[in-house]
Amino acid sequence: MKSYRKELWFNVPTRRAFINITPQVNECLKESDVKEGLVLVNAMHITASVFINDDESGLHHDFDIWLERLAPHEPVKSYRHNVGEDNADAHLKRQIMGREVVVAITDGKLDLGPWEQIFYGEFDGRRKKRVLVKIIGE
Ligand code: ZN
Repeated sequence: MKSYRKELWFNVPTRRAFINITPQVNECLKESDVKEGLVLVNAMHITASVFINDDESGLHHDFDIWLERLAPHEPVKSYRHNVGEDNADAHLKRQIMGREVVVAITDGKLDLGPWEQIFYGEFDGRRKKRVLVKIIGE
């Protein structure tokens, strides 16, 4: 069995962002030379997500509004976690959007459904953060 591991680094200049990382995951898959197997992609930080959905800017705007309604950033003092920091909302947003995705590899390709793309969701940016890509298979 082949095994491959890589860390993708991000330094998002804004507090929140959604980034399509499907091209980077495809690059990892090429490097791994795995034809049949699984790829795990997970955020390595508790204020960021990896999820699968549509690469459509209207939807990303809707996600942002929805998350901000569920866990508004302000007022910062309304969260018990925010003692010496201000990212309680980012922890909650991460929990809703998820930590990781697993995608099947078939015939050397990501076996995604129609319109499915892999995203990095940043909820407390403006610093360096990582995503882990782990690929196993033959
Ligand atoms: Zn925190």
